[in-house]
Amino acid sequence: MRFVLASKNKHKLMEMRAILSQIGLELISQDELSVDLTPDENGSTFEENALIKAKALFKETGLPCIADDSGLEVDFLGGAPGIHSARYAEGSDHDRVLKLLNALSGVPDGKRQARFVSVIACVLDEKTSFTCRRECSGTILKEIKGEAGFGYDPIFFVPEYNMTFAEMPADIKNQISHRAKALLSFKEELKKIMSF
Ligand code: IMP
Repeated sequence: MRFVLASKNKHKLMEMRAILSQIGLELISQDELSVDLTPDENGSTFEENALIKAKALFKETGLPCIADDSGLEVDFLGGAPGIHSARYAEGSDHDRVLKLLNALSGVPDGKRQARFVSVIACVLDEKTSFTCRRECSGTILKEIKGEAGFGYDPIFFVPEYNMTFAEMPADIKNQISHRAKALLSFKEELKKIMSF
């Protein structure tokens, strides 16, 4: 089965395509359909924002659509940047990483717990839509480590693997990440609805 992804983020597309191909689902991007949509993500939860993106794309294409709304929740910051992760600071991913490191300056190792959250929203037709939320826990390092990935990957340390997401081979990140888990649960939900 084929889905259109409501995102312009090339990193997300690459990750989600790799994960979904392992479970027999095909993903095409909105760009490939020449759809240029950037809906206002004005929801107050990951679920609301994911549905806003998937529903807007479904309205435009009439095809089964999915969207990921994701972000980083840092305990010491009361869950910030959370749904505002992509816009936490003006500029690049690097600028946002620096702002977060700054916000946690002087915070000791034991108080740097965080989690990535991913909510996948799926819109199959006018009447059928659902969301799946999953998380991946870790800690925020005091400095950048690794060069792979995107976003906050270079400061997100996963203790079980003793490395950051940016040091991790893509195939491992794509097994353990918030997005990988949410996509698996999306597939399970889809199975129930479509009975395949
Ligand atoms: P969205 O496109 O509005 O869902 O924004 C998600 C933002 O959360 C991204 O721009 C990143 O800053 C951050 N984020 C989400 N998932 C990841 C990840 O796997 N690695 C690093 N940063 C991520």
